[in-house]
Amino acid sequence: MSNTSIYLDYAATTPIDPAVVEAMLPFMQSPLLQGNSASTHYYGRRAHEAIEQARTQVADLIHAAAHEIIFTSGATEANHLAIRGGAHFYQKQGRHVLCSNIEHSSVLAAVHHLTQENFVMGSIAVAPSGVINVADACAAVRHDTTLVSLMYVNNETGIIQPVALMKTALNVEYPHIKLHCDAVAAAGKIAVDVEQLGVDYLSLASHKLYGPKGVGALYIRSQPRARVTPLFAGDRHELGLRAGTLPTALIVGFGAACALAKRKLQDDAVLLTTLRDQLWYGIRDLGGIQVNAGERVLRAPHILNIAVAGVHGEALLQALPDLAVSSGAACHAASLSASHVLTAMRVPLHLAQASLRMSLGRMTTGAEIDYAIRRLREEIMRLRAISPIMSDDAYTSIKK
Ligand code: PMP
Repeated sequence: MSNTSIYLDYAATTPIDPAVVEAMLPFMQSPLLQGNSASTHYYGRRAHEAIEQARTQVADLIHAAAHEIIFTSGATEANHLAIRGGAHFYQKQGRHVLCSNIEHSSVLAAVHHLTQENFVMGSIAVAPSGVINVADACAAVRHDTTLVSLMYVNNETGIIQPVALMKTALNVEYPHIKLHCDAVAAAGKIAVDVEQLGVDYLSLASHKLYGPKGVGALYIRSQPRARVTPLFAGDRHELGLRAGTLPTALIVGFGAACALAKRKLQDDAVLLTTLRDQLWYGIRDLGGIQVNAGERVLRAPHILNIAVAGVHGEALLQALPDLAVSSGAACHAASLSASHVLTAMRVPLHLAQASLRMSLGRMTTGAEIDYAIRRLREEIMRLRAISPIMSDDAYTSIKK
């Protein structure tokens, strides 16, 4: 096993499921299936039919109607379309947009972009537990707020956010405010039901649920109708909301991946919870290790984010080339700065910098977890033995 690297970074991206590859192949091999889905001739109709079937498969995963799904290049674009497109459409009602401070960088960037156009950004601070407080969030709402963005599962910690509660609370006083949810880290891991959540917009990425990279979707509620102004002008694809020729093979793969995720949701959740707990119980007795999550908070089953006192996260990563894990989110992997999510949760800097996110998937095996446990134990003990920052102080902020 030492010449390879065990993949424990499924929250960054997942490999494509072989069944998904099989569904996609004809759309890359047969010229008959490679027409432009907007064309009315035979070739166009074949592509169109395949795309509409995929649209139904994506909608089915989240309990939406097919006409509420708009295909995009990924979740980054879906987040921008919901947030910037939504804020633009409703700007006559107000120019205030709210999001939590643990959102993915694409959400934060979309909101930041709006501030350059004279919109005002409000921030919902997460509690140290990693969960946002809905009462605090409502207190941040203003008379001119038009849109709130709250992710379902945090991609660094796996912590589940109270999205349904947020919508219920907003409905009491502000039923006109639209709620956007980045459900990228939730879909395929926990049940995602747009009716139960009450959201107006919801973003998905194919490559986080064993589909191909480069495709995603935005759900836009049809009743009551939520609206967006398109991000760019061009051909009238996707109800005129998203220009650009549709990538048939990618969309077919995304649809197949969603159908598979729906079928395997329970089995995957049992497997992932078992393996994640095996990993945690295999290392926790080393002491000075905490899960970066409050006690009793709900977490999706695939992510274990830990802080290891007495070592530096980057040193630990470098000592473990045989484990493909990340320090914080992948977006932070190239830098030494602490993750904005852990900082927002007020994890002390030395622990935030010594945090590892391990994320498991459908292809993870018990043998891989056993190996990861052995290697983590070896390297944590070795680094602690030689570390200059090893002191009793390093442990004082760790929850036992
Ligand atoms: N939201 C979350 C929570 C994510 O983890 C990611 C991917 N890291 C994105 C949005 C962006 O998705 P994509 O790569 O499809 O643009």
